[in-house]
Amino acid sequence: MDLGLKDRWALVCGASKGLGLACADALAGEGVHLVVVARGDAALQAAAQRLRAQHPQVQVRAVAADVSSAEGRAAALAAAPQVDILVNNAGGPPPGDFRQWDRDTWLRAIDANMLAPIELIRATVDAMAERGFGRIVNITSAAVKAPIDILGLSNGARSGLTGFVAGLARQPRIASRGVTINNLLPGPFETDRLRVTFEGAAAKTGRPVEVLMDERRATVPARRFGDPREFGEVCAFLCSRQAGYLNGQNILLDGGAYPGTF
Ligand code: NAP
Repeated sequence: MDLGLKDRWALVCGASKGLGLACADALAGEGVHLVVVARGDAALQAAAQRLRAQHPQVQVRAVAADVSSAEGRAAALAAAPQVDILVNNAGGPPPGDFRQWDRDTWLRAIDANMLAPIELIRATVDAMAERGFGRIVNITSAAVKAPIDILGLSNGARSGLTGFVAGLARQPRIASRGVTINNLLPGPFETDRLRVTFEGAAAKTGRPVEVLMDERRATVPARRFGDPREFGEVCAFLCSRQAGYLNGQNILLDGGAYPGTF
């Protein structure tokens, strides 16, 4: 299927590895030019080189920046001639017990996982509406639908983003002008983030990482973790011409793990 995205420009945040990189890769496969952003320059440049090699038909611009800072966002935005597609993503906040979290801990989570995406939407959405096309995809978490108690910072900050986006996506001045805003909610995907979480659990419990991972896989009806490529391809579809009537939704990609009917 041709997704009708050739020669669009995408700003993809958190794109040196994992789910963000998979979104960038799938979009580049559809002929979308990219600005890719992450904080660590070496991993980002290596990822950008691989994207250029695999997709010689598209331009790939790499900006080492922290999207949770105003300067970082400005640098990312300055690198794109225009933003037709915005993929919001940043690292998830650490796990823990809310009794140990002070105001600064909360503000860091809210900055990265709620305010940074809102600021990037603010900087791009009206121009998308003026041009008559725009796609915004926020990478959030399955924890928005089914909270995970030790991930309270993530549950809280991402739910704030989700509530805000639910209202914004339905504003007629956005929705009637070819702009959609949707959230993609990953369950467990085979990325560094997932492995680091299991390594933390292994260090705490003294049990082998592979055993913990097997136990977790067994809780997923699909009996496996997601492949980041599957995530990237769904993201590309959400950005497609065909998905123009799909707006304001929270789409779970979790191998069937969420137990509800809806
Ligand atoms: P990952 O493998 O750790 O990759 C995160 C990417 O984001 C890296 O490129 C990282 O590079 C970049 N990044 C992090 N903070 C950033 C910031 N402030 N500014 C710019 N770039 C930033 O994580 P992932 O597994 O792909 O997960 C992506 C998101 O989905 C995270 O928020 C995660 O919590 C959430 N999620 C993941 C899963 C899963 O199973 N994988 C499940 C539920 C939710 P630098 O560190 O160099 O900046």
